[in-house]
Amino acid sequence: MAWASVRLSLCWSVWVNIVPSKLYVISGPSGAGKGTLVARLMDLVPEAWLSISATTRQPRKGEIDGVHYLFLTTEQFEQDIENDGFLEWARYNNNYYGTPLAPIRQHLDKGQPVILEIEVQGAFQVREKFPEACLIFIEPPSLEELERRLVNRGTESPEVIRGRMETAKREMALKMEYDIRLVNDNLEQATEELVSIVRGCK
Ligand code: 5GP
Repeated sequence: MAWASVRLSLCWSVWVNIVPSKLYVISGPSGAGKGTLVARLMDLVPEAWLSISATTRQPRKGEIDGVHYLFLTTEQFEQDIENDGFLEWARYNNNYYGTPLAPIRQHLDKGQPVILEIEVQGAFQVREKFPEACLIFIEPPSLEELERRLVNRGTESPEVIRGRMETAKREMALKMEYDIRLVNDNLEQATEELVSIVRGCK
């Protein structure tokens, strides 16, 4: 009886498009396809809110301040750390990256699912502060395929790509710590799975 009512309420919440309010942390090596998957997720689950991170790295071509990232100077970023302004922050490839805390609280309070696309050190900091957060690791089909994708993307120098491959190996070693692992070898299927995780069906 109780199970039937749980099933019924779950189906009902999916039916009326109500998604449980929760924090979803998405990590994975650079080039695993996180960005594309997250963009598709946001199209398909428009009630979710995607956090905008702060970073000290230089904007890439086409990146807009306040849309893709909040681009800060090192001094500004360190001041925000002092002020406890971040839910989490990390140094990654010689730059700071961090999740501003205030908007996360606002959107969770509004009842929205909140999506963070961040690297592994930050993901574990989030788990410490929000143990109920769902940690999702996006895996490339293989490290060879990852290198091929990074080279084809053409946005980074060979030296940066080498660094990213080393980082990727370290990140892959931590994938078993995540609640869910998704291999991105088929974009349609991986999108579908990610959507159903955020819609609470898994
Ligand atoms: P990129 O420079 O390629 O945009 O991002 C580099 C890495 O930083 C990616 O793995 C990305 O997920 C991660 N990242 C982006 N924003 C944040 C953040 O706010 N905190 C942490 N810890 N990592 C982030």
